[in-house]
Amino acid sequence: MTFNRRTFLRQGIHFTTLLAASTLSASALGATRLARVSGNPFYLGVASGDPRPDSVVIWTRLARETLGNTLSRNEPVAVDYEIAETANFSTIYRKGSAAALPELGYSVHLDLQGLSPGKEYYYRWMIGGEVSDVGRTKTAPASDATPESFRFGFASCQQYEHGYFTALDHMAKENFDLIVHLGDYIYEETWGAENVRHHNAPEIYTLDDYRARYELYKKDLDLQAAHASAPWAVTWDDHEVDDNYANAIAVDEQTPEQLLIRRAAGYQAFYEFMPIRLPSGRQGASMQIYRHLQFGTLMDMTILDTRQYRSDQACRDGMKTSCDQHRDLSRTLLGEAQKGWLYGRLSSSEATWNVMAQQVMMGRLLRRNEQNEEMYLMDIWDGYPGERDELLARLKAASTPNPIVLTGDIHSNWVNNILSDFSIDNSEIIATEFVGTSITSGGDGSDISSTTAQTLSDNPHVKFYNRQRGYVSCHLSKDLWQSDYKVLDKVTEPGHPIRTRASFVVEAENPGALEA
Ligand code: FE
Ligand code: CA
Repeated sequence: MTFNRRTFLRQGIHFTTLLAASTLSASALGATRLARVSGNPFYLGVASGDPRPDSVVIWTRLARETLGNTLSRNEPVAVDYEIAETANFSTIYRKGSAAALPELGYSVHLDLQGLSPGKEYYYRWMIGGEVSDVGRTKTAPASDATPESFRFGFASCQQYEHGYFTALDHMAKENFDLIVHLGDYIYEETWGAENVRHHNAPEIYTLDDYRARYELYKKDLDLQAAHASAPWAVTWDDHEVDDNYANAIAVDEQTPEQLLIRRAAGYQAFYEFMPIRLPSGRQGASMQIYRHLQFGTLMDMTILDTRQYRSDQACRDGMKTSCDQHRDLSRTLLGEAQKGWLYGRLSSSEATWNVMAQQVMMGRLLRRNEQNEEMYLMDIWDGYPGERDELLARLKAASTPNPIVLTGDIHSNWVNNILSDFSIDNSEIIATEFVGTSITSGGDGSDISSTTAQTLSDNPHVKFYNRQRGYVSCHLSKDLWQSDYKVLDKVTEPGHPIRTRASFVVEAENPGALEA
């Protein structure tokens, strides 16, 4: 069968088929070629992501209002691209056309194939005489290569109203090999008392709502600079749909059916706006984004999803004392399919560093109430102790080389030794966890809070804790991992400088964090 758009329409559009089609050339879809557009259609920026040794996804999204009559005909639009090996495009390495589909809000995801490993490329988009900003990207090293070093940054939690994305502009200047985003890329709701910017609407529910929210965030020039600077590997957390949702269970007064309709909208908008490959499964409100990236023999990275498949938070969520539900070992954070896939990867990997890029804190965080009873945050791994024990036992049994956990969500910086048994101080260290603070969520923050001393004394496996905003810069070689905690004094004013607040290293074959 020949691929053309009418065939799709006649047969009823299946989202996955459509996504596959979006990577076909523009002509194969009979895309309309526009001689001119009204204004700059590329003001949402450019992006790239999910680098492999021979391919990387490049992305843009056309501003609808610049497309003129095409909009009313609901036709795919042809977008040209150029790839070069230098930023000035003095020699064009490759050029071609891709289709922006109206069903995907005129976003374009092009999976560039046949590239060389471990190499920088530059890309730009063109339509109707307009040219986008230039993006820099980089392929992953060859699977059997051992790069001397690899540098990446990771970030999370960028509530637009709480501050400026200055930290992302600082990330852009690092010229990273990769930027990892651990979720809460958008926020579906407004919270906080001293907001310096404002969302375009109250809480969002529909596909149009989510699209408009991503457009607001994507207009931010600091965010655009970070996307244009390096390939990203993204995952989502809760706020891409709804605060602390668990699978089909909403925090708001929504039925599971309502939450699933909302989740389908949130997930589709996420795909539309992110530089990711076609998710391998998309059925109704389900979309598999857990996946794996490999960076030579240096690093294997599993990118996890701790929201879509989890059991509901125990004991009605929040910071709680334990309850029967909390002790139910059948509860899951990852879901059976993802867990089986993850365990398989952790058992087979021979990479020096094995990174789990995920959302919620894995290190135990014990607090006590006024009656001196133990309390735990039910939304993080503490709320799923059975599955955490199982994962740690699995890492140990498989002798997974140098496990490193990367975490977002909690809007503060932490360095944690992940212990075989958190209740025993000198228990075996299984992994090292680096928890990165928010880009803006929570406002300016502070270095030390009134609870810092108690938190550290109750949790001796915690080696560092700080509540400022920023990101984490990681530098790894086959012998040493170093994480630099980069912080800003203020995000409620633009343009503040960044500084390294603390640095921790992990030596290969010697789990646990050491202050550098
Ligand atoms: Fe957050
Ligand atoms: Ca979160």
